[in-house]
Amino acid sequence: MTDHADREKAGGSDRAGFRTRAIHVGGEVDPVTGAVVAPIHFASTFRQPGAGQWGEYDYSRSGNPTRTALQQTLASLECGRTNQCAGALAFSTGMAAIHAVTMLLKSGDHVVAGTDIYGGAYRLLHQICDASGIRVTLVDMTQPDAVEAAICADTKLIWGETVGNPRLTVPNMLAIAEIAKKHNVITGVDNTFATPALMRPLEWGIDIVMHSATKYLGGHSDCLGGTLAVANKELFDRLYFIQNATGAVLDPMSCFLIARGLKTLDLRIREQSKTALQLARWLESHDKVRSVLYPGLSSHPQAELAATLFDSELPTSEKCFGAMITFELDAPLEKVKRVCQNTRLFHLAVSLGAVESLIEQPATMSHASYAPEDRAKHGITDSLIRLSVGLENFADLQEDLERAFDA
Ligand code: PLP
Repeated sequence: MTDHADREKAGGSDRAGFRTRAIHVGGEVDPVTGAVVAPIHFASTFRQPGAGQWGEYDYSRSGNPTRTALQQTLASLECGRTNQCAGALAFSTGMAAIHAVTMLLKSGDHVVAGTDIYGGAYRLLHQICDASGIRVTLVDMTQPDAVEAAICADTKLIWGETVGNPRLTVPNMLAIAEIAKKHNVITGVDNTFATPALMRPLEWGIDIVMHSATKYLGGHSDCLGGTLAVANKELFDRLYFIQNATGAVLDPMSCFLIARGLKTLDLRIREQSKTALQLARWLESHDKVRSVLYPGLSSHPQAELAATLFDSELPTSEKCFGAMITFELDAPLEKVKRVCQNTRLFHLAVSLGAVESLIEQPATMSHASYAPEDRAKHGITDSLIRLSVGLENFADLQEDLERAFDA
């Protein structure tokens, strides 16, 4: 067996660990030059063997080798123990990936969605899908009974987030997948905050797992991207058709950057999670902080469930709970804004999941597209602050926040 085939087999094996697959599946040695990093294929079109004859690739909207490599890595990482992934697709942005899922629906169909979801997904459901005659009911996804009660004859999709945004709720997606199967409804989850390193919802029976690859998968705030990993072939084929027909594919350069990011995803999210846990504990003991939402704290409303869903194969002492923290300051709005504007290491910016730490105020930034009454109803108060914890040293981040609190 050649060295190349050996490596491919080792990386592709079900037994290979997450980090091994992140490095070796999809990113094979270039057979022409031996380069250990595959070249980026910028070609938009490919020479065909004959008129009406098609090779593996013909036109980059339909397929591109650099995109294929990324999609193979992703499918392998989402597979987990159950091998439950028919394939992955890479889109131009996370929103394009969610939009493709909603294009499975037609006028008259109904969606049950979580109350704790990204503002852009809320806007898509309420201002784009709504205009195409698709109805939406928002429910608290931490209550599986409420999800089931919201299902009607027209319900075709249940959409939620494995870790909600911005309140970091952790719904029981295992229970929701079971309910959906009973009612023959497709389930789609946004797994951006948890990443496939910490949660693999296809293992729980979820049909479609989505990521804003702009965040942890890329990990360096230098490209946009979105991904879908799909449990079964029939659904995968429908989503591939939608993507090819509508064209929101990821460009080759971004495919390369995200594939590169995936190689260090497991390391990054674990280090960032450790710092986040330290910061969450410190914030919880701080007299200027009213409350802290972090799934790794025993005070989190779904702490017990989070401990079973995050890092399901690891003992409690080794589990990681992600690197997002939401907390409420015991202060009026102007003071909350001042804190967000006075950090030096935490950049005041939307987005998340990169090596540098970010701070934002959901009510005026990531969730500004929520209707004010929905923000109020769903606990997105003016005093909430959301942190995306990066790879800086804990002590420096702690000092940065302390200085901003005193400003
Ligand atoms: N899902 C979550 C949880 C997000 O935070 C975002 C963006 O912030 C998106 C989806 C949308 O992704 P993108 O910005 O790549 O379109």
